Amino acid sequence: LSTGDILRLEISEKTEIGKLAKSFIDKGELVPDDTLLIMMNNRLNKDDVKTGYLLDGFPRTITQAKGLDLILKELGHKIDSVISLFGNEDELVNRLLNRGLNSGRSDDSIKIIRNRQEIYRNQTFPLLNYYKDMNLLINVNGVGAITDINNEIVKIVNKYA
Ligand code: AMP
Repeated sequence: LSTGDILRLEISEKTEIGKLAKSFIDKGELVPDDTLLIMMNNRLNKDDVKTGYLLDGFPRTITQAKGLDLILKELGHKIDSVISLFGNEDELVNRLLNRGLNSGRSDDSIKIIRNRQEIYRNQTFPLLNYYKDMNLLINVNGVGAITDINNEIVKIVNKYA
């Protein structure tokens, strides 16, 4: 479940969440925590997640992580692992610029990418310690061939399948 994909769908369907999210996404800023938490609470209450799921791009702040803990507690779910992918910042900029050639995404431009990295450093990076302290964090090297990185992630996910 990718929160970016869910938000882009909300935008294309012109829902209330989509209208609110668009200006934040276009600037490369995070959509407010309360919106994300309401959206993910709804999503995680659907039937198709009962056998397990992978969250992509969520949580992105400590407030979201704490909110997620409450949602999971209510549902009787638990987090098996948290995967952190790390890579060289300039390499990541190049990848996103390349993706931007085909993605049609408003936020894959150099200025917005740099803003997203700054926001990652300030708001998302602290989550590494949050999950490390809970003994959930697994670091995966995000540099190299996509197939190798993918295999590494699949190996981890399969442990819980
Ligand atoms: P992504 O597709 O994961 O790169 O996300 C694209 C954009 O959607 C981000 O730059 C944010 O503006 C927004 N977004 C996605 N996930 C979240 C989240 N967990 N919290 C706040 N904003 C988010």
